[in-house]
Amino acid sequence: MNRFENFCTRFVQSTGKKEGAVSPTITGSASFGYGDSETAEGIFNGSVKKPLYSRMGNPTSAQLEGILADMDGGVGAVATSSGMAATTLATMSLLKSGDEIISIGGLFGGTYSYFSETLSRFGITTSFFDVDELDAVKGAVNENTKIIFLESVGNPNMRLPDIKAVAKIANDAGVVLIVDNTITPMSVAPLKMGADIVVYSTTKIISGNASALGGAVVFRAIAEDDDKFKTPRYAEVHKFIEKMGKMALIANAKKRAMRDFGMSASAYNSYLTMLGLETLPLRMDRVVDSVEKVVKALNERGLHVNHPCLSFHPHHERYVNEFKNGCGTLFTIDMGSKEKAFAFLNKTKIATLTANIGDSRTLALHMASTIYSDFDAKTKEFLGITEGLIRISVGLENPQDIIDDFLNAAK
Ligand SMILES: *Cc1c(COP(=O)(O)O)cnc(C)c1O
Repeated sequence: MNRFENFCTRFVQSTGKKEGAVSPTITGSASFGYGDSETAEGIFNGSVKKPLYSRMGNPTSAQLEGILADMDGGVGAVATSSGMAATTLATMSLLKSGDEIISIGGLFGGTYSYFSETLSRFGITTSFFDVDELDAVKGAVNENTKIIFLESVGNPNMRLPDIKAVAKIANDAGVVLIVDNTITPMSVAPLKMGADIVVYSTTKIISGNASALGGAVVFRAIAEDDDKFKTPRYAEVHKFIEKMGKMALIANAKKRAMRDFGMSASAYNSYLTMLGLETLPLRMDRVVDSVEKVVKALNERGLHVNHPCLSFHPHHERYVNEFKNGCGTLFTIDMGSKEKAFAFLNKTKIATLTANIGDSRTLALHMASTIYSDFDAKTKEFLGITEGLIRISVGLENPQDIIDDFLNAAK
């Protein structure tokens, strides 16, 4: 049986319509006529649920938002123009100057530079920890800590976090936990494990075919009784809780990030993303099998591959017990030197050399000379970027073809 059987029915049934046009309708309008002044007033004060302006929400993107919120058991979602826009929306809607972020694991290069370079320019500081430094994380929380940020799988270091343990630290401390679940949609359910907010780059496996840049943020409901968002740490959210109740985080995200930063998803990209979602469970299921086949075959032939399905990986047990549906499409090969990595990449016939991941096609890239070329030696070491490191994202090809091609390229 497909590992993601639960999602197969939901995704295809919620994208297509039973009457009229089956494929989702693309609402290609930036603005919307209100008809009369009373309706306009109602739309602006929230009492009339009709589109206001596409920066604040678009009907096509709203359909996508509903499906993604349902996927994660959230109360709602906001689609964005990219994955970085999703991280920006999720964080900027909660932060002010003087606040602190604790970042655990990973880390995707764009997120790292967003935290370390961009946010620091605005007086927001981030401390970075490995996934297993949980005592240090606990000790680092103080009254200015607003966000604990975690990637579900280290990209590209392939280290796996103990998400429940991090969620416990965050919940005990009353701090918001945001999980970047880009690499493991459906496989990992962060909200069910105690996280508050999930961010996605839908550009990757959700769309799955390099057709649409996009992102999304999924929010949990505010609880009726005790909720960390009701504490003084999140005082700015209180007025939205009074007005919107359990939906407060959506209103907070739209008013305190989307309205002013304008990172809205385009209707056309939301449409393409929904087409991708229809086959996501099928593609993910196949790729999780293929990754293990490819990794194990290359390992047997003496290549230095890194993936937690290998018994000697430090998080192998966590992979087996907590990541039962796999950890996405990625693994890495360390060729030992830049020259050998380049030789491999120039010889492979299957892999497309690109910065993307989660595509239908197998993708590969040398890390140190591309995404991480601006990073200093210490940061590269922290992020696990060695000189010979190649990141692979396994696609839908016959896994034996990938194995044969890679063994030939490594010769
Ligand atoms: C690609 C990626 C992002 C950024 O997404 P874009 O759509 O490229 O902006 C964020 N996090 C992870 C884990 C990613 O792989």
